[in-house]
Amino acid sequence: MKTLSEFTETTKSWVSDLIVIEKMKVIVPLKLLLVCNSIVAKLNGEEFSIVTNIAKRSSDTITLSEDFYIPKQSVTSGSIDYLPEDYTYSVVIHRHPNGLNSFSATDQSYINQNFELSLLYTAEEYFVNGLFNLKHEDAIIPIPVKAVIDYGIEDIDISNIESVYNGAEENTSNRLTKLYKDDYIFEYDDLYTEINELLFRVETLEAELHDFKTAEHLDKN
Ligand SMILES: [Zn+2]
Repeated sequence: MKTLSEFTETTKSWVSDLIVIEKMKVIVPLKLLLVCNSIVAKLNGEEFSIVTNIAKRSSDTITLSEDFYIPKQSVTSGSIDYLPEDYTYSVVIHRHPNGLNSFSATDQSYINQNFELSLLYTAEEYFVNGLFNLKHEDAIIPIPVKAVIDYGIEDIDISNIESVYNGAEENTSNRLTKLYKDDYIFEYDDLYTEINELLFRVETLEAELHDFKTAEHLDKN
């Protein structure tokens, strides 16, 4: 009879040999995002769709091609009607209004079943949802998708850029110190004299104001 620990051990080693795909990672080239953003800017809030192809695929990652086509379509702010046309693209990206991040019933039964991969785009959050139809014998198994945008700037080598921030900071502070020394530092005696002169003038003004008020008061009576 197997003990519990033996059983767990066996299960673990069996699982570690295989990748469990809960979500398909889809790498979207920046160009496709810019294309979608650009179409949004040219429309007045209507939905739309573009099609593209899969450039590369491993067991858990799909990379999309930069090439795209805008199919002939009739659109409103809540629907897309595709017009009869022949093309052989396997990926569709369609737009939803902001916040509507789920596929509609129509999406599920029409768009999502006629393409290998379907992505949902909103102007606000970009690629918010997706579905990959894994073919298995005579069936398709829909797998959820996690889309990431390839900005093409992940591995920028900045070793040629030498930061001289500390040096610059020192120069600035040196320059300020020099400025103060040359032009702005008053001697203590000078300040003392200046303040005394100001105080004397204030006292004189106050005395004159007092005299003026007294005179005014006397006149009235
Ligand atoms: Zn939709």
